[in-house]
Amino acid sequence: MSQQQKIQERLEAIQSRISTAEKAANRPAGCVTLIGASKKQTSALIRDCHSAGLSHCGENYLQEAIAKQTELDSTEITWHFIGQIQSNKTKAIANHFTWVHGIDRLKIASRLAQQHPHSSPIKLLIQVNVDEEPSKGGVILKEAGELACEIAQLGNAELRGFMAIPKARQDPSEQRSNFAKVYELLVRTNQKYGLGLDELSMGMSGDLEAAISEGATMVRIGTDLFGERK
Ligand SMILES: *Cc1c(COP(=O)(O)O)cnc(C)c1O
Repeated sequence: MSQQQKIQERLEAIQSRISTAEKAANRPAGCVTLIGASKKQTSALIRDCHSAGLSHCGENYLQEAIAKQTELDSTEITWHFIGQIQSNKTKAIANHFTWVHGIDRLKIASRLAQQHPHSSPIKLLIQVNVDEEPSKGGVILKEAGELACEIAQLGNAELRGFMAIPKARQDPSEQRSNFAKVYELLVRTNQKYGLGLDELSMGMSGDLEAAISEGATMVRIGTDLFGERK
């Protein structure tokens, strides 16, 4: 089997897991966007996956991402920055990405907004550290609403919702209860501050079904789409 055929089969398998999960949750077909988490994968593989129908990619490492974006110049991929953000990298991130998922401070959001080309506002998601793990970025649940209220007031930025990477768990009901906390945060924040946040980036290879059942609108899939990372 060629690389192109193999990636096409993998993409179809993920798309079918997503649509099965949408149906099971009584959500509209196509309401969940697939983001290929393409860190450490080659441009050639990303190109083949894009030809097979993938239109969104998420990258974690800036230099690696820019190199691949240059190689993939002719393809119309929407790029999401899903890694940890260093404040001295905001300018390049603002210039190379449409979406940024890992916002955890007002200062970062405001720099991205200022530095993004003014043709369209940059789209932002606040990262929530659901399990309060020191190794992960993001704000804790109880601080996320207030930060959202502040970031929502920035010009040239569009705060759209929250992103979370809960601890990997095997038990589906435990997976669901953590995603449900992020969904409740979105509802509560909209009510309390009168916002219209509408995106939840949550769910990876091992827990996308649980995330979709609790309201994910974007899933970030690496391993089960592209294979093991080098
Ligand atoms: C790598 C990565 C993913 C994809 O993880 P898989 O388990 O390989 O699907 C999703 N989100 C973020 C932020 C990542 O860094």
